[in-house]
Amino acid sequence: MPSPRAIPSIDLLLQQPAALALVDAHGRTQVVDALRTAATEWRAAPTGDPGTWIVARAAALLDQTSAPLLVPVINATGVIIHTNLGRAPLARTAAARAAEVAGGYSNLEYDLEAGERGSRHLHAEQLLCALTGAEAAVVTSNNAAATVLVLAAVAAGREVIVSRGELVEIGGGFRVPDVMTQSGAVLREVGTTNRTRVTDYAAAISERTALILRVHPSNFRIEGFTERPPLADLATLAHRFDLPVFEDLGSGWLGVPHTQPWPDALAGEPSVRDSVAADVDLIAFSGDKLLGGPQCGLIVGRAAWVARVRTHPLMRAVRAGKMTYAALEATLALWRREPSRTEIPVVDMLLMPLEAIEWRVRELAVTLRTHAPHLQCDIIDGASTIGGGAAPQSAIPTRLLAIRSPRQSAAALESALRAGTPPVVARIQHDALLIDLRTVRREDDEALTKAVCGALQFSAPCEDCT
Ligand SMILES: *Cc1c(COP(=O)(O)O)cnc(C)c1O
Repeated sequence: MPSPRAIPSIDLLLQQPAALALVDAHGRTQVVDALRTAATEWRAAPTGDPGTWIVARAAALLDQTSAPLLVPVINATGVIIHTNLGRAPLARTAAARAAEVAGGYSNLEYDLEAGERGSRHLHAEQLLCALTGAEAAVVTSNNAAATVLVLAAVAAGREVIVSRGELVEIGGGFRVPDVMTQSGAVLREVGTTNRTRVTDYAAAISERTALILRVHPSNFRIEGFTERPPLADLATLAHRFDLPVFEDLGSGWLGVPHTQPWPDALAGEPSVRDSVAADVDLIAFSGDKLLGGPQCGLIVGRAAWVARVRTHPLMRAVRAGKMTYAALEATLALWRREPSRTEIPVVDMLLMPLEAIEWRVRELAVTLRTHAPHLQCDIIDGASTIGGGAAPQSAIPTRLLAIRSPRQSAAALESALRAGTPPVVARIQHDALLIDLRTVRREDDEALTKAVCGALQFSAPCEDCT
């Protein structure tokens, strides 16, 4: 066994051509750190020539640490708004606008006509109002922030009336009662888990009341003996007492008409337009759910209430940045013009016809059968889901590729796909790997095919797969 003394000094290691190349790429400090770590590893388990091994190991360590942690993945799960996978993919023009604004200065808070300070709040407001019918709008960092901001601005230290059926947890720790506490508002629960009537709200109104809150239960549904007052009735009641109604709508379905019908799964989804029409004073929703835009929170509603929210000190803590405004403005502009609407990936996925999916899935099956004849590839009926808390239990019919291998379990295949570049996230059911192309961009079909071939480690190597 070589003695520890056999390790060359760091200075000596740094003179190797391979180490010099690393210094050029990463800088001396990082390379010295990596060489030290590699030397410690070699000392613990000496193998081969220390000089060569340590420099090669340092190169591998530097590769690892310089690779970005956040990487694109292919979503083959069929869940359109997948929170773990970054929610809505941006439309190409929205991403391009964000990139354009990101690399330079912009008129984010500058009035170009007057040559003086302007307001960032103007950027998406007109488009949001045009699309929803609201009088005013404001953008925050996300919907959770929007909700806390509205409660703080309108109801801090006073009571907020909410139905017991809406005290939900949305996921990721967003619990309505806890959010309320954080905002300084006092929760006043009314009704029961399954039934709450307008009279329940009316009985709870007192001089301590600041607001009536309505929450979209999102990912959860109560069935059977249930009752919930129509929004318009709630608004009429609140306005009789000069109180506002605030709705946390979450998924933010715009509810605009479209020539090609929206999927049945969205039939019961409450829309922002409907809430505005029902005279709800403030409505908050996410920018990266059904709107298909960047992560942000949108608050739309009555001008006077929006102005109050905008001038609250918390606004500064939750405001959105220039890249968000650029991507949001572009996304809203696409929504405005019906022909361009399908350029928004979420819209495209919602409307993707079954035949289009079938056609793509056949192509994929043919390629896989050619390259890996031992595989069992079946095209089966299945369901894509909307996700993001919209239309819980809703399903959009799809066609899935079910892959079974006699040589690898579905679990092994699934984890091999996840480990690939780009990683592919898929589902497992009855020991078959399921691929749903509804959520895979068409231009990623080829990368997906290669990734699946690559994950089949026992298949004969072929030109396309290497
Ligand atoms: C998704 C959702 C939220 C959280 O929205 P973020 O944009 O993730 O902050 C809050 N409320 C409801 C009803 C939701 O569906």
